[in-house]
Amino acid sequence: MKKLQNYIDGKYQDPLCGQFIDNIEPATGKVYSYIPDSDEQDVEVAVNAAEKAFPIWSKMSTEERSQILVRLSEGIQNRMDEFVQAESRDNGKPVTLAAHVDIPRAVSNFHFFATAITHFSSESHYMEGLGLNYTLRKPIGIVGCISPWNLPLYLFSWKIAPALAAGNCVIAKPSEITPYTAYLLGEVAKEAGLPDGVLNILHGLGHRVGDAIIKHPKIKAISFTGGTKTGEYIARTAAPMFKKLSLELGGKNPVIIFADCDFDEMLSTTIRSSFANQGQICLCGSRILVERSIYDKFKEAFVSKVEKSVVSYPSDPKANLGAVVSEPHMEKILSYIELAKEEGGTILTGGERVILDAPYQDGYYIRPTVIEGLAYNCRTNQEEIFGPVVTIAPFDTEEEALMMANSTQYGLQTTLWTSDLKRAHRVADEAQSGIVWINSWLVRDLRTPFGGVKASGVGREGGLEALRFFTEAKNVFVKY
Ligand code: NAD
Repeated sequence: MKKLQNYIDGKYQDPLCGQFIDNIEPATGKVYSYIPDSDEQDVEVAVNAAEKAFPIWSKMSTEERSQILVRLSEGIQNRMDEFVQAESRDNGKPVTLAAHVDIPRAVSNFHFFATAITHFSSESHYMEGLGLNYTLRKPIGIVGCISPWNLPLYLFSWKIAPALAAGNCVIAKPSEITPYTAYLLGEVAKEAGLPDGVLNILHGLGHRVGDAIIKHPKIKAISFTGGTKTGEYIARTAAPMFKKLSLELGGKNPVIIFADCDFDEMLSTTIRSSFANQGQICLCGSRILVERSIYDKFKEAFVSKVEKSVVSYPSDPKANLGAVVSEPHMEKILSYIELAKEEGGTILTGGERVILDAPYQDGYYIRPTVIEGLAYNCRTNQEEIFGPVVTIAPFDTEEEALMMANSTQYGLQTTLWTSDLKRAHRVADEAQSGIVWINSWLVRDLRTPFGGVKASGVGREGGLEALRFFTEAKNVFVKY
């Protein structure tokens, strides 16, 4: 069985402790490869390599760095099918999703930041008769990028690309649950001509190698995407070391549907925003709030459409939903469905594990689930489930909808559906979230700021925000 390796200083190598951990295929529930159980020793070696590489990379012309990153983007594009298959197998998501969303987006992330850096400018501030301030934007040095399992290469590259473009050296850790495409990325980086030591990819457990990354004194910034609890721990640990922190955390996003919306468009998009990637996208809408006058019509149409969704093994071209990512995650989702029942909810459809035919009988499949009859402030409606489970509830007024929408500790994304222009802007303005989609969902322009408020995170990724995060501003004043 394949043993993945760390990519350090331009070479693939085993973890120094010699230990490996299982990598399980969610579609079958079987171990299909092993990944390094790296620890602080490997981080030390990677940091030494990055330290050596930093003067070379940071002093290289922007044009040259840009060309290498464009080649890296093309390198993934050239191996599209291999990356798509690997992502789907590792994560359990339908191959069609990896082919249309995950891997094309990883290609775009590298391409976008490869070119964005060539347009990155800084400010100058003229003081009449006195002199001139100009602001330099210097790379930070060695930075840590830690990513989750739900959109593995998509989110990994979303961090690495701007960090590298800005001239930093990177110690990166993908999720131990979905390491495969990050493993392949080392080969592509090498072929693209990225100097050794500039990008180091370490595999292993969060509390071992992840912890060593966030605690290493020479790693000056941490860009993290993952759960709110982990984010809180990272902030507690790294903030006293004065590291720069970007934290993209959990969500519990509302979808507000007004009676005057385009019903058909709303319905088909709401199916996607609820269940794409088995509901395991931080931007999925999991609390659907519907104006009372169309509540029954919505409920009937939505449930009937959900019931037509095909749950199947990832390589089945008919699959709308594949497997959820792991057994513990499946158990967590099922336990929330039980909690919803205890809290008085009615399961309108789904609510159970799906057992497929061999060889997928031990895979982690859950039927898409719709629940009604729950109070807006119960645990099911307040805590992140991160699976194919949504709740639906009626509302009477705009104020009530906003109150329910804004009632959680999270604030990542709000979706709203209405044809009333004034209301659309008014509700968007009042929504407590970093992102609002009006009459749409998951339309992404890589130039826009991305991130959440409240317990959904600190800081913004995307476009210039990411390049600013991965650089330090230095102001220089010249007296006339
Ligand atoms: P997680 O917090 O368990 O793990 C995320 C990463 O952090 C993994 O690589 C993990 O190994 C690492 N990690 C864990 N403990 C660590 C520690 N002590 N020190 C350093 N690193 C550590 O999250 P997950 O289960 O992989 O991902 C799901 C979560 O991610 C959900 O809450 C979801 O909402 C969130 N998410 C947020 C966004 C966003 O942009 N806001 C995007 C995707 C996912």
